[in-house]
Amino acid sequence: MRSSLPIPDYIDRIAPYVPGKPIEALEREYGITDSIKLASNENPLGPSPKAMQAIGQALAKLHRYPDGAGFELVRALAGRLGVGKEQIVLGNGSDDLLGMLARVLLQPGDEVIVPDPSFLMYTIVAQSAGAVIRKVPLKDLSIDLPGMRAWVGPRTRLLFICQPNNPTGTAISRRDFETFLSDLPPHVVVVMDEAYFEFVRHAGCASGLSYPDRRPAVVTLRTFSKAYGLAGLRVGYGVMGAPLAELLNRVRMPFNVNTLAQVAALAALDDTEFLERTLSTVHQGLDFFQAELSRRGVRWFPSQANFFLIDVAQPADEVFERLLRRGVIVRSMRAYGYPHCIRVSVGLPDENRRFLQSLDAVCRTKG
Ligand SMILES: *Cc1c(COP(=O)(O)O)cnc(C)c1O
Repeated sequence: MRSSLPIPDYIDRIAPYVPGKPIEALEREYGITDSIKLASNENPLGPSPKAMQAIGQALAKLHRYPDGAGFELVRALAGRLGVGKEQIVLGNGSDDLLGMLARVLLQPGDEVIVPDPSFLMYTIVAQSAGAVIRKVPLKDLSIDLPGMRAWVGPRTRLLFICQPNNPTGTAISRRDFETFLSDLPPHVVVVMDEAYFEFVRHAGCASGLSYPDRRPAVVTLRTFSKAYGLAGLRVGYGVMGAPLAELLNRVRMPFNVNTLAQVAALAALDDTEFLERTLSTVHQGLDFFQAELSRRGVRWFPSQANFFLIDVAQPADEVFERLLRRGVIVRSMRAYGYPHCIRVSVGLPDENRRFLQSLDAVCRTKG
């Protein structure tokens, strides 16, 4: 649908982001109850209990504006990560930081390199700034760093890496990342989106946090939405060189991270018991799924995140739809270029078993 307003063509061309189906929407539309959602890589344990407690105590302060600088949270993060406070920018989710990076760094006609398939927001924020997108296909489900390097030219401003990659769950090695960085011109900013980094089990995976002051600039994005269970509150942050952080803070909305989000994130950061329980739930769930699927002869792909891909060997949209009717929400990967794959987030043990039973029923696999 073309807009009748005099807007830029590059805005008109943006394809809207399609989020995972909310449980309430499924139940409303299908008239069912007792559904489970394994579609948005959320924390199956719920929010950090310490975060919930902190929110309760902060409710009486809601008539005040938030601390626009997020002083306590920034200080805690800087201490935890061993970087300067002036190197951290808070966001309304890490999505907010993607938008700030695009506003600061991109002009119409600039080029942005993205892996494909990967997180769709990279393309959306770059298109909103009128940038030209260069999509570099994954190789064996992994981000192809030499392939991305080959597209770098004088107008390249931003290059996105999703570590581990959503939706494939693969992660790049420190060695490959360093080789890649050593050959990159200084006018390119590399964004390492580490939304799932806490879940990584493989030793030797690259993190942008090892290069906070490097040129070319490496920006690391992290979030409280996944491992800390606070997706509904919207808190993320970026770590980068202080000069770039200062520019991002100029375009940041002053109260982008609300009061409850700030106190909850601060408390969640100290909730090591919850983080450990989250990681063991996810890792045991992945191992359980993979053993069960292998036993059934169903193809799956190893993952460093809290989700993974399953090759259902038939049209994924149909499997998705049949699972929905049984109250199980996953993601079809057709729109991501894998027409026979679904992406499944690891849930609680009961949810994982329910998913497998439903898969057996809709795909006639043998449990
Ligand atoms: C979930 C996710 C995010 C996090 O988004 P928030 O805005 O922090 O909730 C960022 N990047 C990727 C790849 C994700 O999957």
